[in-house]
Amino acid sequence: MKIIFLGTGPSLGVPVPTCQCHTCTSKDSKDKRLRSSVYIEYKDKRFVIDCGPDFRQQVLVNNVEHIDFILLTHKHNDHVGGMDDVRPFNYIQKENMPIYGCRETLKDVKNRFYYSFEKRHYPGAPKFDLLEVEKGRRVDMGDISIMPIEVLHGTMPILGYRIGDFTYITDAKYIEADQIELVLGTKYLVVNSLLYNRTHSIHFNLEEALDFIELINPDKAFLTHISHKFPPMKEMKGLLPKNVQLAYDGLEFSF
Ligand SMILES: [Zn+2]
Ligand SMILES: [Zn+2]
Ligand SMILES: [Zn+2]
Repeated sequence: MKIIFLGTGPSLGVPVPTCQCHTCTSKDSKDKRLRSSVYIEYKDKRFVIDCGPDFRQQVLVNNVEHIDFILLTHKHNDHVGGMDDVRPFNYIQKENMPIYGCRETLKDVKNRFYYSFEKRHYPGAPKFDLLEVEKGRRVDMGDISIMPIEVLHGTMPILGYRIGDFTYITDAKYIEADQIELVLGTKYLVVNSLLYNRTHSIHFNLEEALDFIELINPDKAFLTHISHKFPPMKEMKGLLPKNVQLAYDGLEFSF
């Protein structure tokens, strides 16, 4: 499996326009974070998790030339706002883009991109096939299978995804025991960590993310959905457990 982090930032990205803070003014390219998303190659499939407002730029920068399907975690704009830009993939692949998500997310996609679902399809609109998934119900796609995992984003149930030894969870604040069961045994874990030393009502901060990682005990964990309230990358050196690192845009690994 090959993973590329297309984006590792929160809804505002980093730097935040107009902000002059220590992290936003960092010259280190690793402190520049587009909205969170990952690209995955596994067996014969190539796909992304989430499709935020930076999607177009992300596929260009990372030379993503084919996408078999998109998994959506939830309906917030920073995770779905770039879906109009699947059009080039529609054209070249000559088929609708399969979009997997929970019922609530797909309902929102239909509202946002209403012009794709009108009876008289207007030429040039993106084409989607909406495919509903549910927590704990495995989805088989050819040689691979995907397990949707429910996490709570504040009070809103959203989805993370486990694919073999890899699990991607973003925008979590709380995870029920029966869903933690589904994550156990994961070797490579991605989890959100919005804030450094203060709490947030609907996102894990660093301490909560590290507690969750300790519980799962993967070989390697990556933090994502990182805000400008985090110190710059360089200052985080040595502050995290050995098997944990801050992800950054363009980070790639295979196993
Ligand atoms: Zn988000
Ligand atoms: Zn800032
Ligand atoms: Zn969100």
